[in-house]
Amino acid sequence: MPFGHDMVHSLAAAVDLVNTSPATGGPDRLVDTQQLGDFVERHQMSGVGELGATDLSEVRAVREAFHKVFTAPDQATAVIRLNTLLSGTRITPRLTEHDGHPLHIHYFAPDASISEHLSADLGVALAHVLAEGEWERLRTCSAPDCGNVFVDESRNRSRVYCDSRTCGNRMHVAAYRARRRA
Ligand SMILES: [Zn+2]
Ligand SMILES: [Zn+2]
Repeated sequence: MPFGHDMVHSLAAAVDLVNTSPATGGPDRLVDTQQLGDFVERHQMSGVGELGATDLSEVRAVREAFHKVFTAPDQATAVIRLNTLLSGTRITPRLTEHDGHPLHIHYFAPDASISEHLSADLGVALAHVLAEGEWERLRTCSAPDCGNVFVDESRNRSRVYCDSRTCGNRMHVAAYRARRRA
């Protein structure tokens, strides 16, 4: 993968954000500001102030916009959807070091709300994926009862499950049982 550390970090946050959505098949895991705070903490996002109800509803809207980028039927649609998302946020690149991370670039404006912060930083990371011609790496899990998204970072773009230990393992067991029944 040609992606650097901060790209990988932002892509992981985008995946985690989208997968909190009930649209991916599981329970909604972003229902209050406590869960939003946990998300911010989990991804060591800097410059985030007090979180309120407006932040929560805005982030929930951005979450669905990111989900639509991952589930776009083709690259052209993904580009349109991502550009729409990016057009709604101010982008201010600057170099920073925090929480022990090496020097990396932040894209959110200094006074950005959390939803703008996510749109800017995670949006730019996804823009790089598309610009590198790697749109196909934005995937949805192939397990029939799972709609989690993931970024396929495997060399030969062969990953089909969101998590090999859970969905991958579950599907292998199901296939094994089906073979035994046959
Ligand atoms: Zn950072
Ligand atoms: Zn899955």
